[in-house]
Amino acid sequence: MKSNVRVRFAPSPTGPLHIGGVRTALYNYLFAKKHKGTFILRIEDTDQTRYVANAEQYIIDALKWCNIPFDEGPNTNEKFGPYRQSERKEIYKKYATILINSGWAYYAFDTSEALDAERKNHESDGKTFIYNWHNREKGRLVNSLVLSNEDVQNKIASGENYVIRFKTPQDEVLEMYDEIRGKITINTNTLDDKILFKSDGMPTYHLANIVDDHLMEISHVIRGEEWLPSMPLHILLYRAFKWDAPKFAHLPLILKPVGKGKLSKRDGDKLGFPVFPLAYTNTETNEISRGYKEDGYFSDAFINMLAFLGWNPGTEQELFSLENLIQEFDLKRVSKSGAKFNPDKTKWFQQQYMQTKNNSELTDLFLPILADKEIHKDKSYVLKVVSAIKERAIFVADFWDLSSFFFVDPEEYDAKASKKNWKEDTSDLMQELITILSAITDFSSANTEKEIKAWISGKEIGFGKVMQPLRLSLVGKLAGPHLFDIMDMIGKADTIQRIKNAIEKHSL
Ligand code: GLU
Repeated sequence: MKSNVRVRFAPSPTGPLHIGGVRTALYNYLFAKKHKGTFILRIEDTDQTRYVANAEQYIIDALKWCNIPFDEGPNTNEKFGPYRQSERKEIYKKYATILINSGWAYYAFDTSEALDAERKNHESDGKTFIYNWHNREKGRLVNSLVLSNEDVQNKIASGENYVIRFKTPQDEVLEMYDEIRGKITINTNTLDDKILFKSDGMPTYHLANIVDDHLMEISHVIRGEEWLPSMPLHILLYRAFKWDAPKFAHLPLILKPVGKGKLSKRDGDKLGFPVFPLAYTNTETNEISRGYKEDGYFSDAFINMLAFLGWNPGTEQELFSLENLIQEFDLKRVSKSGAKFNPDKTKWFQQQYMQTKNNSELTDLFLPILADKEIHKDKSYVLKVVSAIKERAIFVADFWDLSSFFFVDPEEYDAKASKKNWKEDTSDLMQELITILSAITDFSSANTEKEIKAWISGKEIGFGKVMQPLRLSLVGKLAGPHLFDIMDMIGKADTIQRIKNAIEKHSL
């Protein structure tokens, strides 16, 4: 391993960051931290036609929420900056010229109409047109490989549109190595002469990406599988510049939960889960996309889930803090095949993390929800509520439904449960219970439990005959934590009042 690990996450700001992008950022981060290296954010915004103004900020906010901060990036430790490609135009121009001068690239003046015509001609012969060794010097295409130097200079001087293409070597079996996929070979004859630079002064992704990875001293390129087809060109570009190439690792795709293919926003919409870390508003259409944060997920649960989409530790352990992930992460344990996204598993992670959260922290999240409902209880009371209901909760947003009876009287009684459990003699029994409760001075859970159970046993009736209507009276339905704990919490007066309310409601 190079002693100085430097990796980068290099998104294009074309919209919100899909969870696949977040996973790429995460693996880069884990790899960097494991090897005491540097994690860099580079904004690849050379394609102005796809540029979306609020996307960069979204990416930065998302990484922040995920707790995977970058060490270098826009406005942060700009040692190798700028980190926005649109601010590095002059650099790319210089390197495109170096390739022209060394014979690794050439000017091409073909108009899009001429290229379309070539394409059509080939199609009518049942062939596919590829701009490469096959035809670049045959005379039909207009480029600096066939024109005189003077003609080329004149065309450029007269403002004719051009592109700079890479001159892919002919007849070579290129051997490459991917850290996840192993050895890959490809015959260079199958490659096309990709455009590196355009006369509007902008580089294409390929040139900008390679130049920046070199200048920013990137040691490992860890990115999505969709970039695997670009790897041969990238390796050849490093060779053309006489630079050492970084190591490459192409991560598996994240697949749809059902059916085949890549996970898309549409799958999320259809099956009801977000595919973005944070909610996002499309400023053109005003369409709002859901985010994991706003849906109530804890970022550490989300990150744990993402880490497992394509990687596993080789043991049964599934719960990993970010620190543990850093220790355990290894590119060798990243799989080649796609990882199926599983929304239920995401919920499972969330539920597991809910149980590990500190009650005081959870209470702080619940207090504002209560305040919105004009409920102002002591933190110590709310803390007890949270510890009583936490094991049944997945999200903080579930807390209210699971605990409203700790704060307010039930508004209604579950009709089915009433019918089944509130019999003709129930109201009299409850009236008697009120008398018993009124006489109890120690209203602690343990004591009321003892007293009431003794009373029921003395009457020689089933426990359910009392306990079910009592639960209905206090909670409104047959659910919730230990009944005597609820009584302890709401106190004697409220307990009795709620039983009275239930008697009244059931006598109507
Ligand atoms: N800008 C590319 C993207 O949007 C980066 C690909 C790479 O990491 O080389 O994903």
